[in-house]
Amino acid sequence: MTTGFVAITGASSGIGEATAQYFLEKGHNVLLIARRIERLDHFQDERVMKAKVDVTDEQALKSAIQQAEDKFGPIQAMINNAGLMLLGDVSKQNSQEWKDMFDVNVLGLLKGMQAVLPSMIERKTGTIINISSIAGKKTFTDHAAYVGTKFAVHSMSENIREEVAKHNVRVITIAPGVVETELLGHTTNEEIKSGYNEWKNSIQGGLSPQTVAETIYFAFSQPQNVNIREIVLAPTMQV
Ligand code: NDP
Repeated sequence: MTTGFVAITGASSGIGEATAQYFLEKGHNVLLIARRIERLDHFQDERVMKAKVDVTDEQALKSAIQQAEDKFGPIQAMINNAGLMLLGDVSKQNSQEWKDMFDVNVLGLLKGMQAVLPSMIERKTGTIINISSIAGKKTFTDHAAYVGTKFAVHSMSENIREEVAKHNVRVITIAPGVVETELLGHTTNEEIKSGYNEWKNSIQGGLSPQTVAETIYFAFSQPQNVNIREIVLAPTMQV
């Protein structure tokens, strides 16, 4: 059996689920992290470990990583993918929605990095892959708080990349445009939701989660001395 493993947060749907499946197919042991653990029932391989963890709980995250290291050996990559998008008009939106997004998209991602960095720095190898968004590079109407979280992902990832480069640890940011997943489903404003869907149809739909999974794997599978710092991918008709 291969030693080591790849951890994926938000593995219970969308990009995370497709990425988990793809890394498994490529022969990796995987640690799948999500709250809706029942959504992981179809992953039955002995190379899969599942952890019911909320990424805002740093102790639970650290403990899941430790348990996977005890079983599989050292962590090879941490894919911080868990995320929440609650679109809204800031003049009316409930501020709890801003807090929830910052807790998961920003603090959860920092906690994910903290959970693995000591092991990677000590072993002088490892890869962190942070899933940002094209909304971490440009703005969109009704996306203000979400864009804030994803601009933060880009800047934090780049800052930490510079800090850990001397330890031979890679930090990679993946920034997809629209992808066909459940992400929009959590937005509570129905008008914004239907406007988003109309726009998505006008550009012939989003990318498949599989395309993003393959992009993540492409960056990961380079030799350790090659760090693809950032990839932006989007449907051709998205501007
Ligand atoms: P989904 O809604 O399908 O998946 C989101 C995942 O995040 C779920 O598995 C969910 O699992 C997990 N998650 C959410 N909150 C938490 C939490 N507190 N703790 C643990 N896991 C959590 O959306 P996507 O696959 O689209 O999203 C994945 C990432 O891709 C996100 O970071 C998103 O911002 C980003 N992205 C998505 C785009 C798109 O158009 N879909 C475009 C650009 C970026 P569970 O609820 O089981 O905990």
